Amino acid sequence: MIAASYDAFLLDLDGVLYRGQEPVPGAAVALRGLRELGKGLAFMTNNSARTPDEVAEQLGRVGVEASANEVETSALTTGALVRERGVRSAFVVGERGLRDAVAAAGCALLDGEPPGADAVIVGWDRSVDYAKLRTASVLVERGASLIASNTDASWPAPDGLAWPGAGAIVAAIETTTGVTAEVVGKPHEPIFRAALARAGGGRPLVIGDRLETDIEGARRLGWDSMLVLTGIASRADVERSGPTPTYVGDDLSAVLGSG
Ligand SMILES: [Mg+2]
Repeated sequence: MIAASYDAFLLDLDGVLYRGQEPVPGAAVALRGLRELGKGLAFMTNNSARTPDEVAEQLGRVGVEASANEVETSALTTGALVRERGVRSAFVVGERGLRDAVAAAGCALLDGEPPGADAVIVGWDRSVDYAKLRTASVLVERGASLIASNTDASWPAPDGLAWPGAGAIVAAIETTTGVTAEVVGKPHEPIFRAALARAGGGRPLVIGDRLETDIEGARRLGWDSMLVLTGIASRADVERSGPTPTYVGDDLSAVLGSG
């Protein structure tokens, strides 16, 4: 059984456990199987808009039992970075999950048009407008560090089309200022390390549906990974190019199989 070789299972959400509002068949049962084996679990998402409680609730709605402290969002990882760096004030372009996490790290949230800030912190923000992008850019030009919760290019819209993701918003500020953001979300290391700590440490297996974030992030750390075919990537994508997952499973139940 693949699962026998690992202590901690770091799971992507959309495309692994659910698709939009719909559960992925078999995923909840496979997770119960991992729990029965006593494995550590962490649920890992680049989406910085939702709080861990909201993520746990959403998982409950698709039949996956999860506690908020098993959830690592890119917002929480950003909060940890802010605390570690001693960032005292930040202008945040982002939604509640990100704002809560930055405030919980002891950092003052600046609104309006502050004259300066230690950092500009950017995530997915469905109410971003020109004034926010202008203020964020001006603050970076005045010396604020630029931190991004993630740089997902797009948001998977229900009709299969793409809406602007956090990466599109970050790109506006980078393009304006010429400054490259420090990114904490997948495929960058910080969120993976935080998720592993949340799952209790040990030997990790990263499970996701995207080659360029989930599988690439695992590759950078030298960790094993499983691509599941219930989301974005297909078997043909794996054969084409890019990072190679350790395992490819039709769905999450493959983790309880022999590979
Ligand atoms: Mg996914």
